[in-house]
Amino acid sequence: MDIPRLTVLAGPTAVGKGTVVALLRQRHPELVVSISATTRSPRPGEIDGVHYYFVSDSQFDDLISSGNMLEWATVHGRHRYGTPRPPVDEALDAGKSVLLEIDLSGARQVRQSRPDARFVFLAPPSWDCLVDRLVSRGTEDEAERSRRLETARIEMQAESEFDTTVINDDLKTTVSELARVMGLE
Ligand code: 5GP
Repeated sequence: MDIPRLTVLAGPTAVGKGTVVALLRQRHPELVVSISATTRSPRPGEIDGVHYYFVSDSQFDDLISSGNMLEWATVHGRHRYGTPRPPVDEALDAGKSVLLEIDLSGARQVRQSRPDARFVFLAPPSWDCLVDRLVSRGTEDEAERSRRLETARIEMQAESEFDTTVINDDLKTTVSELARVMGLE
């Protein structure tokens, strides 16, 4: 069977998805990583059109109503995030491999509309490790951290819905494993 060219990577908050995807991208510049739209504000260092498309609520509404969102979700009970559909379709039509790094609810939506995609769950080595990572990155205040841990607890239970689990213990090994699963190596 052919390896699907559309891969959905999900996993709990602070598991290190961003770091894994950044390294994977360095190793495989041919891979297209979808840039999500979000209604949250940029963090220091984040660039519009590179890390996310930072949009207003009404712009986000327009993307949904025009049918241009492949999936979208309110993440951590606060802001909306979604995958703009046209760039994904264009890349797949051009024969490229595409990666979506999205939350569980988004992954479930893609499962409905693109059952042929590959669904990969990125898991932490342990729950304690996940909590440590969230605290040590220091980008969220206490209230936001507990909100995210609450979501993470639920997300951890969804692992069995995915085709494959990759445990993010050693970064380089994780990236190699993901690349292998995606058929890039
Ligand atoms: P952050 O605010 O830390 O950048 O992202 C928070 C969460 O939003 C992450 O867990 C990430 O997986 C999720 N997320 C980012 N982009 C999308 C998207 O396009 N769709 C969905 N459903 N979730 C997303």
